Amino acid sequence: MEECISVFDMLKIGVGPSSSHTLGPWRAAERFLGELRNELLLHAVTRVKIDLYGSLSLTGKGHATDLAVMLGLSGQDPEYIPIENIAAIIKSIESKNEINLANEKPIPFYFLQDIIFNKNFLPFHANGMTFTAFMNDDSEYISTFYSIGGGFVVKEERINAKKKIQIKCAFPYPTDKASELLAYCKNENKSISEIVFENEKSMRTEAVIDHELIRIWHTMLECMYIGCHSEGILPGGLNVRRRAFDMHQNLIGLANYNSPQSWLEEIRKTEVKFRQILKWVSCFALAVNEVNAALGRVVTAPTNGSAGVIPAVLMYYLVIENHQAGEKQIKQFLMVAGEIGSIFKKGSTISAAMGGCQAEIGVSSSMAAAALCELMGGTPEQVLMAAEIAMEHHLGLTCDPIGGLVQIPCIERNTMGAIKAINAAELALATDPENAKVPLDKVVETMWQTAKDMNNKYKETSEGGLAIAVNMADC
Ligand code: SF4
Repeated sequence: MEECISVFDMLKIGVGPSSSHTLGPWRAAERFLGELRNELLLHAVTRVKIDLYGSLSLTGKGHATDLAVMLGLSGQDPEYIPIENIAAIIKSIESKNEINLANEKPIPFYFLQDIIFNKNFLPFHANGMTFTAFMNDDSEYISTFYSIGGGFVVKEERINAKKKIQIKCAFPYPTDKASELLAYCKNENKSISEIVFENEKSMRTEAVIDHELIRIWHTMLECMYIGCHSEGILPGGLNVRRRAFDMHQNLIGLANYNSPQSWLEEIRKTEVKFRQILKWVSCFALAVNEVNAALGRVVTAPTNGSAGVIPAVLMYYLVIENHQAGEKQIKQFLMVAGEIGSIFKKGSTISAAMGGCQAEIGVSSSMAAAALCELMGGTPEQVLMAAEIAMEHHLGLTCDPIGGLVQIPCIERNTMGAIKAINAAELALATDPENAKVPLDKVVETMWQTAKDMNNKYKETSEGGLAIAVNMADC
């Protein structure tokens, strides 16, 4: 039974550094507040505690899970909170030993004791968390959530209920598999982005779709702009130096601009030499992921750790491939990318805690490859082939962030994902789909099988790979 996943579910505006470990727990805390409100319990709460389990516990400190939970319980929205307010809110909670629950009810809160990092895993998913509210009549209200990747949060009972009820997707073109998507394109003589647009129109007006897609793009552009203009050392203790700033300075030289949009136009005027193309693409990807690592605002695409791939490839199209492209092409790109991401989410996973980095960088590269291929004139068959090629060469990629921080190997890995995406699009455009040996659906299945076979220490636990070979002191 097809699940309706919108492009706006796959591309969400949030705060770094992690969609599953920051955005998801933040949203879970908001949902917990919503439950308390619905039960008319919010003002009876005297204390709260949060138990983090599995991967959320093992890499939660580096991924700012504790901060995200505190911000969520404070009633802050990750999409709109001014980034500059975050540090002050956290500092106030820590110094006063008090949290202003839902921004309405101050209660005592001792973050070192009230956020508990349990090493064990809950059976349903690697990213579990339980919120407990203690009431003024000595009763307790307990709720468990799972952050399943890309900022998606579920409760086990909802998933089970959904299986029984079998809710029918309301999209005119419901899709679980790439083969179904291709059949719609052929039958209706439409591109993939046109099919996605029809689906989106069943949920919101054209004006809202346009507005929200462009808002996502502006957030991506601003994120790249901030990253290219920020120097210094990233937080967390690894002493990782930001590199986008110097790379950008060397590439752009003396140029005149004063906003993200005028910056984009200035880059378009810059004569990009062939050997600089890789540097520009890498610079855009580094910029996003440095902002992400610094707890800045990014677009989850499909996760925060992989948030740099899609903006970098879209910028590549705008500044290298097509200087005439505008909002029409940007919207088209985002819709195709979102649809490919949803196929991976439905058929495999976008959670590194379930599937390693193939689920993050691999999926983002596949999304970007497909989107670029459509903009460059690919047929729907070639677009799906581009997605397949990009993932085929990420299969088995492990997740082993040093110190549990989304910095090494994550930031550089986005540059690799972006460059592979461009290459995958080019290969697909140069290939007759009749000669394709591996359909996208097969690579989605293979990715899921590989995820299941992968040793747990390579699934966002920081207990294997680079995270063990190189510790924080070595850095
Ligand atoms: S290694 Fe990959 S999956 Fe793991 S945190 Fe970094 S970007 Fe995410």
